[in-house]
Parts: sequence; structure tokens; C-alpha cells
Amino acid sequence: MRIVVKVGTSTLAHAGGRLNIRRVELLCKVLSDLKNAGNELILVSSGAIGMGVGKLGLPGRPSDMPGKQAAAAVGQCELMYTYDKLFAEYRHTVAQILLTAEDVKDPRRSRHVHDTLEQLLAYRALPVINENDAVATDEIGIETTIGENDSLSAIVACLVHADLLILLSDIDGLYTADPHKDAGATLIPVVDRITPEILALAGGSGSALGSGGMATKLRAAQITREAGIDMVIANGQQPELLYNLLEGKPIGTRFLGRSV
Ligand code: GLU
Repeated sequence: MRIVVKVGTSTLAHAGGRLNIRRVELLCKVLSDLKNAGNELILVSSGAIGMGVGKLGLPGRPSDMPGKQAAAAVGQCELMYTYDKLFAEYRHTVAQILLTAEDVKDPRRSRHVHDTLEQLLAYRALPVINENDAVATDEIGIETTIGENDSLSAIVACLVHADLLILLSDIDGLYTADPHKDAGATLIPVVDRITPEILALAGGSGSALGSGGMATKLRAAQITREAGIDMVIANGQQPELLYNLLEGKPIGTRFLGRSV
């Protein structure tokens, strides 16, 4: 299978922004194993800003644009250093691709991104993608920024005609209500269509360091659905769940791709 896995800051880092070593080691081990089993993988990883905050010892995620961009520039190195080191232990080679909205919107540029990704997969390398936060800014105009990696991973999944997009989050999936507030909330295992009722289940952004939340995940599901690609939201706190997921077990919430 060709699988795009998106991992969020809340999975990769502790609340203060420092690397969650145990979690990331386990994640790289499981992903390496899935590659060894013959799957093609692309990792879309957040965490640049969060890790930059940790490495620079800042009190929190900067709210100003230069602060965020500088933190991303520091954190992106840390992120790739970590992936390079951990995947190398399992003899896998990582490749960094940093994208802006223009790279995926402009047909010529997006064709080049597609060709590079195909070539990397043919080389059996593991592309690790993030938004190019150090240069993509809201200030130049919203058009230059994707802004969050849930949508970016969905765009990438469509670009490479992936079989599956997996969003690893700090929650098990989509619930009938906010499970932090409502004890009666239950996990929705399968979403066939993204109705206004489903959209109404999305709250705001989830954590202090990341920028996602359920709303951006549903936006991602809308993008993959149109391309006929299934998307699963699963809990990144247990990377081994990926084995169960690929064995066909009901894990998290699966958003079915429209038959195309
Ligand atoms: N690109 C941002 C980062 O690496 C994260 C975007 C997101 O959280 O979706 O820090």
C-alpha cells in the first residue's frame, strides 16, 4: 500500500515542546517495519515550531510571525536530525521536502513535487514533508500559506494517489461529542459522508503547540474523499495501532473515500 502518515506536534513533543523520545522512537520503529513489509510511506510531520520553542527555551509558541518562523527554522533541523538518526537505525533513508501553498497550487510546481516524490519512493527513501514555515507567511497573503498539516497531508495523498491517509492525533478519532467534556461521548468508527452534522462535531484547535484540531481534520477528509482515498484518524500515542489498522482492524475513525 502507498500510505501517507501525518503526525502532529502533540504526538511528537511533550507539552513544553521538547521531544517525546519514547513516542518518536516507537513511531520510527513501527514506520520502518511497515516499510520493510513492502508499504510505500510518506511522512508529513509537524513539530518544527514546537521543537524550535523547546530548543530555544522560549516560554511558549510565539504569536508573532518572525518568532514563529525563526522557531520553525530551528525546530525543522532538530526534527530532521531526529528522523535521520532514528530511521537510519533501521536502514531507512529520509528525504526532507518543505512545501508552500504555491508549490501545490501551481500545476507546474506541483508536477515537479509529484515527480520528486515518485522518484524518492522509487529509491525506497522515506520523504518527510512539512510546510516551509520559515518562508510561508500569512502576511504575504493567505494564498501562500496552507497553515496546517492536516490539509497539507491530504493534498500530498491526492498528489501521489495514495491508498490511505492516516492522521495520528492525540485523540482516538471523531467522537459524537467532546470526550473531554462529555462522558457519554462515543467514538464514530466510520464516516461515510461528511454531512453538516459531522462538521458540527469539530471543536477548535487541540493543543498549545500544534495548530490543528478536528476542524482541520474534517477539511482533510473532504479533500481525500473527493479523490476516493480513505482517511483514518488514529491515536498517535500508541504507534503500534498502525499494525492493527493495516491488518484491517477497526481503529480510530475511518472516513471513506467517494468511489471514483
Ligand atoms: N508546520 C507546523 C510545524 O511544523 C505545524 C502545522 C500543524 O500543526 O499542522 O510546526
